[in-house]
Amino acid sequence: MGCKHCKKDLEHLPGKRKKEFCNDTCRSNFWQKERRKKNNAMKLAKGKKEPEPVVPPEKEEPKEQPKSVPDTNARPKTLDQLKALCPSELKGFDRSEWIGKKRQEYGI
Ligand SMILES: [Zn+2]
Repeated sequence: MGCKHCKKDLEHLPGKRKKEFCNDTCRSNFWQKERRKKNNAMKLAKGKKEPEPVVPPEKEEPKEQPKSVPDTNARPKTLDQLKALCPSELKGFDRSEWIGKKRQEYGI
């Protein structure tokens, strides 16, 4: 078997792996050709050229989002939200009482 690229007969040294190319140039040329062949095959497999998807221009989003300020008048929906609303000066029993009252008030 000769060089895979230029078909030149190759000398095979006994005990060594069979050469596939006569030199590195043939080797790289061969693989370049192979790669091109593969790419072409892939293009063909993809079929007809599909129109490029039209990417709509990105809408400019306002970069500065107003930070959500915890609204103390907001009606809490969960116990955690309710606890967050509990005045920090209330401790221990007062706190539990406050939470208990508010839970009834808000139906949590
Ligand atoms: Zn060659």
